[in-house]
Amino acid sequence: MKTALVLGGGGFIGSHLVKRLKSEGFFVRAVDLKHPEYAESAADEFVIGDLREQDVCRAVLDQPFDEVYQLAADMGGAGYIFTGEHDADIMHNSAMINLNIADLARKQGVGRLFYSSSACMYPEHNQEDPDNPNCAEESAYPANPDSEYGWEKLFSERLFLAYNRNYGTKNRVARFHNIFGPEGTWDGGKEKAPAAMCRKVARARSGDEIEIWGDGKQTRSFLYIDECLDGVLRLTRSDFEGPVNIGSDEMVTINQLVDMAADIAGKTIHKNHIPGPTGVRGRNSDNRLIEEKLGWRPSRPLRDGLEKTYQWIEQQVMRNSLPEAAE
Ligand code: NAD
Repeated sequence: MKTALVLGGGGFIGSHLVKRLKSEGFFVRAVDLKHPEYAESAADEFVIGDLREQDVCRAVLDQPFDEVYQLAADMGGAGYIFTGEHDADIMHNSAMINLNIADLARKQGVGRLFYSSSACMYPEHNQEDPDNPNCAEESAYPANPDSEYGWEKLFSERLFLAYNRNYGTKNRVARFHNIFGPEGTWDGGKEKAPAAMCRKVARARSGDEIEIWGDGKQTRSFLYIDECLDGVLRLTRSDFEGPVNIGSDEMVTINQLVDMAADIAGKTIHKNHIPGPTGVRGRNSDNRLIEEKLGWRPSRPLRDGLEKTYQWIEQQVMRNSLPEAAE
């Protein structure tokens, strides 16, 4: 039986990945500070542990797993990573985890290791025009991420690739662009734009106004979780080490995202633009490299994934009918 270790297995992407690996017949050990919030983990073993601690990492990496997925990170949406209030923790916590895991995975001789970097490592100066952002992989340097979260990702992707050069490990690095779907954080301050918009629309009545950070003209693309996992597994099992984008190239403005959510809900929603953390003006996944190297790119429309996500968030809102907090 093949074995996999999913670090951050209690998080959004990690808990979906555990399910996928189980459906492929793997033995799966998951590790996280917490259990998945919205459903029982499908892992064979779920270890509650703090991966900043070397002893914890040694205990969970006690065998040469066929596949290790390093998804654990101190992270959240714009309200968490772009305000500057959590910078020291974000950098320290995530770097500690990555330093521990890169070294112990090498010593343990694991088969392959996947590391999730982020599109947040791309230079700010290439993302000022909402209509023409440049997120081609080679545009990463000279480096100039707009957040400390992005700087830590850049450091850690280089760390994992340095182990490949110096120790012959098979580490694989992807830069995720806004992954979304059911069973992701949808309120509390760490949620990202698609979940936040679906929640606001779900809590509103037709004709209501909802608050949007910024002018809503900033552009992004959003990738549905199932397609993200297709890309992760292909990359991990390929001979290409990356870094490579895993994201959608269906670019929309935040205003269009809100309109789509409102249309799915069948509601008329007015937007009230208020000051708030918004990140760069434009970002879109450039999928030329992944197509060239892996013969694959995500293909399903944003609307398909947003419908599934909206339905799930609407159910959560109905279960938890607190009034919308002002943001
Ligand atoms: P998430 O926050 O849901 O999952 C991360 C998990 O790591 C959490 O469950 C958290 O408890 C765990 N964790 C944090 N510190 C830990 C520690 N010290 N020890 C053990 N576990 C710890 O986030 P996600 O959306 O599932 O993201 C997974 C990975 O993908 C992260 O590395 C993130 O930076 C990256 N990423 C995600 C997106 C996205 O849009 N979701 C975009 C770019 C990059």
